[in-house]
Amino acid sequence: MYKRSHLFALSVIFVLLACSDLACERQNQQASPANDKPLVVCTTTMISDLARNICGGRFEVVGIMRPGEDPHIYTPRPTDALLIRKAKLLLRNGLHLEGTLAKIIDNNLAPGAVQVAVAEDPRIKPLESEQYKGAPDPHCWFNIAYFRVYAEKCSSAMSQVDPAGKEIYEKAENSYRQQLEELEKYTREQLATIPKQRRVLITSHDAFQYFGRAYDVEVHALIGISTEQEPKPQDVENLVKLIGERQIKSVFIETSVSGRLNNLVRKVSSKAAVEVGGTLYSDSLAEPDSPCGTYIGMLHYNVDTIVKALR
Ligand SMILES: [Zn+2]
Repeated sequence: MYKRSHLFALSVIFVLLACSDLACERQNQQASPANDKPLVVCTTTMISDLARNICGGRFEVVGIMRPGEDPHIYTPRPTDALLIRKAKLLLRNGLHLEGTLAKIIDNNLAPGAVQVAVAEDPRIKPLESEQYKGAPDPHCWFNIAYFRVYAEKCSSAMSQVDPAGKEIYEKAENSYRQQLEELEKYTREQLATIPKQRRVLITSHDAFQYFGRAYDVEVHALIGISTEQEPKPQDVENLVKLIGERQIKSVFIETSVSGRLNNLVRKVSSKAAVEVGGTLYSDSLAEPDSPCGTYIGMLHYNVDTIVKALR
């Protein structure tokens, strides 16, 4: 008798667990609008914007990181795994930008789903971190030519998942590429108006090396390529010295790094008696419906802010 009731209790628990799982599944379906479009999950806000530009409305695009979040120290939310499990396509930056999140992706992506690291391509030559020897610098999106590679990889990944949409993705990528070419022309022309001697970009963390190499800007930062790093007192002093020697007019803070790090840049600015020339977008875009909510809008804003402050 005891045994039978025990079995009954166990089966009740089992049924309850199964129900809660179903309820959970249903809630998730409600969380994302019910449609039969394949789901593309993107890690960073730049990649989410890119996917929206290429997909021609044939994919449901969901980004994991929210506007303003720092990818280097992103702590995965419990809902991320559930979202990743439903993805038909997963687009991430790669080159170690997604730390813990990369493991969550590998552990949860459904068999048959496609995963593409858009920065990992033979056409992209990763720069090496000065602080961590051998570690690649993941901020390749700041070379617009490299972002064109991101777009091409996004388009071919979408065609792989949804071959019927191939022409649409290629057409969208073609028109987006033209916009990127215009953006590149604008970036070169504008930055060239800053006298070479003062064309020095000083920021919170080292996100702009690709930008500097591509558009002839000397780049220095308080800390290295990852925001996990701790600044040292001599880093502040070295920047103050450089500003004096080169007669640099401004330094810049960033939207997606910690207030503490930006405060140290403010300390550099006051010690060197120069202005904070503005807030740059480095590793995250703004809200999608705002001017800096797109990759193109963000780069325009950064270029205009840099030129206004340094010219
Ligand atoms: Zn970064």
